[in-house]
Amino acid sequence: MAYLTRIPVGRIFGFWSRSFSSPIKNPFFSSTLSHVPSYKISTTAHYSSPSPSPPPPLSAAMNTQVFSSSSRWRPMCLYFTQGKCTQMDDPSHLEKFNHDCSKDLQVNGTDIEKKCSQNVDFLLVIDLEGKVEILEFPVLLIDAKSLSLVDFFHRFVRPTKMSEQAVNKYIEGKYGEIGVDRVWHDTAQPFKEVMQQFEAWLSQHNLWEKEKGSRLTRAAFVTCGNWDLKTKIPQQCEVSGIKLPPYFMEWINLKDVYLNFYGREARGMMSMMKQLEIPLLGCHHLGIDDSKNIARVLQRMLVDGALMQVTAKRNPGSQKVEFLFENRIQHPSRQRR
Ligand SMILES: [Zn+2]
Repeated sequence: MAYLTRIPVGRIFGFWSRSFSSPIKNPFFSSTLSHVPSYKISTTAHYSSPSPSPPPPLSAAMNTQVFSSSSRWRPMCLYFTQGKCTQMDDPSHLEKFNHDCSKDLQVNGTDIEKKCSQNVDFLLVIDLEGKVEILEFPVLLIDAKSLSLVDFFHRFVRPTKMSEQAVNKYIEGKYGEIGVDRVWHDTAQPFKEVMQQFEAWLSQHNLWEKEKGSRLTRAAFVTCGNWDLKTKIPQQCEVSGIKLPPYFMEWINLKDVYLNFYGREARGMMSMMKQLEIPLLGCHHLGIDDSKNIARVLQRMLVDGALMQVTAKRNPGSQKVEFLFENRIQHPSRQRR
């Protein structure tokens, strides 16, 4: 499998800790210009140490890394991902932060022809963050044929029903820990507004028409677990006083496809990555990074020949969710990853 380039783990983690200099020059954000904490990288060594009980050998392709990389790994500019970076002309900012989301999702071409043809043209990888209310809404649009990243949609989301004090405390704990609480505060918008922007984005890519109000036809959502679309989106829609959009009625739970395709169980993103020997990029539980890592698992499964099929459907009348795979991951606890 000469088409693949293995990325040395040390190069990916890089063990840097730089200050996240705010790219905001706009006076509107001037209060944010003082100190912006570092966007620290989790330096978990999951991929450098062998697993306690090594899994049985998988297919040959699975032992090889599908990703190529030509330069040092850098964290994404989280202002840029939301269309709000104003430092694109500053070389030192560009040196520190990645402004090309596709960089971590490049797949070398030769074996792409091996993969089977898919039922949809595009896959929308989504991985929400937030327990009480949604705090982050990242979606990656992947071409099901070329496996390349077509575009992405990323927004931090401001809760509507939580008190300001509770939000501040929560954000400090969740995003402060990885140094991105400042950018969250600078950019977060209410869920209702995020949904309007998301629908405009879907329409722009000819994936959905508001006037028709139908399900997605050319694309399908890909999630890691059922929580995102089964539980969290409907909950948040209720809190935000909006109707559950029709495009959220069905999805592909990657863990169920994984179980049926490889014949082995992986209970979360980290275990799928570990079993496939895909190094973790970025910060686990930063939604945009988790989405990328899930997309990397998806790309690998597609290269290995997996067919992405809808695994869960919501009945528009009863709202009951029907699971379409007989053999699926059952979660006794609330754990989703
Ligand atoms: Zn930037």
